[in-house]
Amino acid sequence: MSGHAEQHSDKLRAALYVVATPIGNLKDITLRALEVLRSVDVVYAEDTRTSATLLAHHGIRTSLRSLHEHNEARATQEVLRELEAGRAVALISDAGTPAISDPGALVVAAAREAGHRIVPVPGPNAAIAALSVSGISGPFLFVGFLPAKASARRKLLEGWRSAPYALVFYEAPHRVAECVEDLLAVYGPGRTLTIARELTKLYESVHVCPLGEAPAWLAEDANRLRGEFVLIVSPAAADADATRIEGERVLKLLREALPLKDAARLAAAITGARKNELYELGLRDQAE
Ligand code: SAM
Repeated sequence: MSGHAEQHSDKLRAALYVVATPIGNLKDITLRALEVLRSVDVVYAEDTRTSATLLAHHGIRTSLRSLHEHNEARATQEVLRELEAGRAVALISDAGTPAISDPGALVVAAAREAGHRIVPVPGPNAAIAALSVSGISGPFLFVGFLPAKASARRKLLEGWRSAPYALVFYEAPHRVAECVEDLLAVYGPGRTLTIARELTKLYESVHVCPLGEAPAWLAEDANRLRGEFVLIVSPAAADADATRIEGERVLKLLREALPLKDAARLAAAITGARKNELYELGLRDQAE
């Protein structure tokens, strides 16, 4: 294992190990994460009770201390003292990767500032898991949680209206319906929405549909609003292309029965493509 972040000995080098843990299925923990959690001097966890269950499940007895949103500043000072004393410290959160919509960034920045080694031990992350089954490729923007206030939420969403990348959101179950309504209002019915729920858990479901169909789909069954969610909106540019292609297809069909002007108007209304663009396309086709 030489050349790796860990050495062969039982004792780990002094460092802050940022360790990803499962987002549901307890089996989703890497061999390396288990080794690190077993070998460090202390594990800082967001919720020591939740993490005690995980460690016990794997027969790990390392002592646990808490580092959460409300004590992060104080706990950070404690972690710095541990690192200065030459101890190996692990940081975990309740689920997934620490510091990703979770506490951790503060202690990581402070440890770096103080000149300590920081070692990522990668693993589960809800956003990446959802993206991996969304069928979307290319760049994405990880937003995480949107503001709870509707006006702040809409304002933020509007800023990304024509962003040529997928938008990835975390959302709490009691706000999913409201959030989807906002996504629809800002991005329109044609963009694709991936609703990834309860990933790696018993009631895991991944539903992909046009944004315009999402509210009705969610309202159809109360269970569809339960659990933990990742929402992904497909990129604007790709959708614009898809809409134009669909517009052309419908235009060609309508042209068999209608004058160009009417066909372009109807094709635009049906598909959301631009009327003028379709009209010009029709003119070019006529000229050929
Ligand atoms: N650090 C975590 C990560 O790496 O994904 C995220 C923690 S954040 C506090 C919790 C949010 O992540 C949930 O509200 C939900 O939006 C999303 N999430 C976590 N686990 C999930 C799962 N199993 N399925 C779907 N979304 C999940």
